[in-house]
Amino acid sequence: MINLVLFGPPGAGKGTQSENLINKYQFVHLSTGDLLRSEIKAGTELGQKAATLMDQGILVPDEVVIGMIENKLQAHRNAKGFIFDGFPRTVKQAEALDKLLSQYGENISLMVALEVPDQELLTRLLERGKSSGRPDDQNETLIAKRIEEYNNKTAPVADFYKKQGKFHPVHGVGSIEEIFNNICAEIDKVDGSTH
Ligand code: AMP
Repeated sequence: MINLVLFGPPGAGKGTQSENLINKYQFVHLSTGDLLRSEIKAGTELGQKAATLMDQGILVPDEVVIGMIENKLQAHRNAKGFIFDGFPRTVKQAEALDKLLSQYGENISLMVALEVPDQELLTRLLERGKSSGRPDDQNETLIAKRIEEYNNKTAPVADFYKKQGKFHPVHGVGSIEEIFNNICAEIDKVDGSTH
């Protein structure tokens, strides 16, 4: 089983690459951003609370996303592997994920970190905002806040996986296909060594 953390700042291409990766490897895709947006759409209490934070570009509380991931892991016990997209976003979430996976005798196989300069992220997110319908993609101040949250709270998660020898950086600027091939090469290296 391969469990991949696809890491990177907002706009790095995690969602796009996840779609390609699930087709190739039949991973179950777990995106906490998508799960939260489903809650908002369904009008749940959790969704309403999360929306007020998401609309400000602020991370929602760790307990909320950890609980969502726990439910999804339970619901997909026979999965071939998972791709975690937009999670973990804090060291506390990373620690909780290790603990949850260990209950199933599993662990994270690797983290692939998509590296993209801040200016390029801003350009991409504003472009995406024209069609995504996401309020948090349409405002430059809000995008800057999300990148700031990433730098303050999420970037340290890379060190967490570096210490475990699981950190694999991939240059995130170029054609989607070229970046996809580079991500697959990192997965296949790890997958090959586990067999
Ligand atoms: P995303 O779709 O991954 O860009 O996430 C959109 C927003 O959802 C973020 O700006 C956060 O407010 C919230 N969010 C998504 N995933 C997480 C997470 N793992 N931890 C905390 N907040 C999250």
